[in-house]
Amino acid sequence: MLQYSDAAIIGGGVVGSAIARELSRYDLSIAVIEENPDVVCEASGRNSAVVHGGFAYDRGSLKARFCVEGNRLMDELSQELGFRFIRCGKVLVGNTDEDLKQLERTISQGLDNGATGLELIDGQRLHELVPAVTGSFAMLSRNSGIMDPFLFTINLAENAAMNGARYFLSHKVISISRRNGRYIIHTPSDDFSVKWVFNAAGKGAKAISDMLGITGYNVIGSKGNYLVLDKRLGPLLPMPVYPVPSNTYMGIHVTPTVDGNVTVGPDAVNTDDFSYYGVPADRMEYLRESASALWPHIDRKDVIRTFSGILSKWVDRNGVIQDFRIEVRDDIAPCAVNLIGIESPGLTAAVPIACYAISLMAKREDLRLKDDFNPIHYTAKRFADMSEEEREKAIASDSHYGSLVCSCEKVTEAEIIRAIHNPLGVHTMTGIKYRTRAMMGNCQAGFCQMRIESLLEKELGLRAEDVRYLRGSSWVLAGKMREG
Ligand SMILES: Cc1cc2nc3c(=O)[nH]c(=O)nc-3n(C[C@H](O)[C@H](O)[C@H](O)COP(=O)(O)OP(=O)(O)OC[C@H]3O[C@@H](n4cnc5c(N)ncnc54)[C@H](O)[C@@H]3O)c2cc1C
Repeated sequence: MLQYSDAAIIGGGVVGSAIARELSRYDLSIAVIEENPDVVCEASGRNSAVVHGGFAYDRGSLKARFCVEGNRLMDELSQELGFRFIRCGKVLVGNTDEDLKQLERTISQGLDNGATGLELIDGQRLHELVPAVTGSFAMLSRNSGIMDPFLFTINLAENAAMNGARYFLSHKVISISRRNGRYIIHTPSDDFSVKWVFNAAGKGAKAISDMLGITGYNVIGSKGNYLVLDKRLGPLLPMPVYPVPSNTYMGIHVTPTVDGNVTVGPDAVNTDDFSYYGVPADRMEYLRESASALWPHIDRKDVIRTFSGILSKWVDRNGVIQDFRIEVRDDIAPCAVNLIGIESPGLTAAVPIACYAISLMAKREDLRLKDDFNPIHYTAKRFADMSEEEREKAIASDSHYGSLVCSCEKVTEAEIIRAIHNPLGVHTMTGIKYRTRAMMGNCQAGFCQMRIESLLEKELGLRAEDVRYLRGSSWVLAGKMREG
C-alpha cells in the first residue's frame, strides 16, 4: 500500500524516536519506519546507559555541544517522559603522573565545552565516594548520571505516537526513489510517499545515505561486550567508575544501573558484522579481569547475563573517528536530513540531535506548532516500587495486580497486560521485558517466560507458534512435539 505523509523518519532508535517526538510538536503527518518489531533492538538498548558530562569530546564538536545540552535537559525529559534518571556523578580513576596530566587536559576540555561540576579529587575523597575502588586520585564529574535507556527510547516513541506520529514496525527500507518532488521509500510491504526524509538508521545509516545519493561515507562497527551483575552488588557502587580515557576510547568501566544491577564493559572490538551480538567466553573473562583492577567485587558467580552493542563510527580514509554529521545536501538530496556516525554520546545527546536535525528542516520549510502537543508520557508506578498501602489500593482497583508474574523483579499481571497493549503495537517477549523489567531478574526468565508467552497469546489472540522473542525467526516455540 502507498502511505502518504509529510515526513518519514527511517530508524526508530533513540535518535529516530526523539526526532519523531520533537517533530510531532508541529502540524505535520509523520511516519516512523523501523526494520525491527520494536524500537530498542539495536544500539539504543545496548549501551552503558550513562548520561555523559560532555568533557570527553573535541572542543567545538557537535558531540560536545549536544552532549552538554542533553545532559542539562535530562531532568526535565525524565519528568516529562517518566523514565528513571539519576544524577549520581561519575569518577575517572588514575594512578600515574601521565594519568594526572590526562585528567587535567580532560577537565580543561570539558570546561571549554561548557561542562560543569568537574574537579580533581584526592584518594581520600575518592574512597569516601566509592569505598572499594582501586586508585590514587580521580576526576569527579558531578553532573554525569545513569538512566533507563529502554524506557527513554520507548517513552519518546510512545509520546510521539500519542501526538500523532505513526510507527511502521517490521518495515525495512530497501530502496528510495524520487518522483515529482517527493521521495518514495520502498519496503517489502508498504511504500511511503513523503516530502521530507530523516535518515536516523544507526547501523543502516550509510546504506540509507547511499539510497539518497549521498555516497562516500565510511562507517565502521565497534562492538562492545558487557557483563551484567546481580543486584547484590548495586549498593556497593554509588556511581560509574571509569579508567582514565584515551582520546578515542573511554575504557572498560563499572556502572550501576538505575534498577540496582551493575554492568561491566564495554571492550571495543572492530567488526563488519552489525548483527552478531553474541559475547564470546574469552571476552567475558577479559572484562572481568580488566574491570577488577578498578573495582574488586566482580565475581563470576554474580554474572547473571551478558549483552553487547555495536557503535557505528564514521571514520575518514585514515581511520580517524569523525564528529556526528547532520546535514541537508540541497545539491544532491533536497528535503533529506542525513545523520551519520551517531555513536556515543548519542543516547545523552538524542534530543538536541533531534532539535538540530529539525532546525535544518525549519530553515527550508514553514513549520507550524500544534496547539494540542502533549509532552507528558504517563508511566504508572511499578508494583515493585509501591508501598504496602499503594499495593493494596492497586489490587483493590485491578485484581491483576494481585498476581505476581516475575517474582525476581516483582512484576504483576496488570503491568504485563498494560505493556502488551502498548501504543506502538509491539508484540514480542522483549517488548514486554523492556517495558516492565519482567525476565530481567536473577533467574533470567526461568520462571516467568512461559506465563508471559501465554498472556501474549490470550490478550492478542495469537497462536503459541506466532510469539517471537526479539525479531526475525526467534520464535519462542518451534512447533508441537505431538498432536492432540
Ligand atoms: C556499546 C555502546 C555503549 C554506549 N554507551 C553510551 C552511553 O553510556 N551514553 C551515551 O550517551 N551513548 C552511549 N552509546 C551510544 C548510543 O547508544 C547511540 O549513539 C544511540 O543509541 C544511537 O541511536 P540511534 O537511534 O542512532 O541508533 P539505533 O538505536 O541503532 O537505531 C537505529 C534504528 O534504525 C533501524 N534501521 C536501520 N536500517 C534500517 C532500514 N533499512 N530500514 C528501517 N529501519 C532501519 C534499526 O533497526 C534501528 O532500530 C553507546 C553505544 C554502544 C553501542
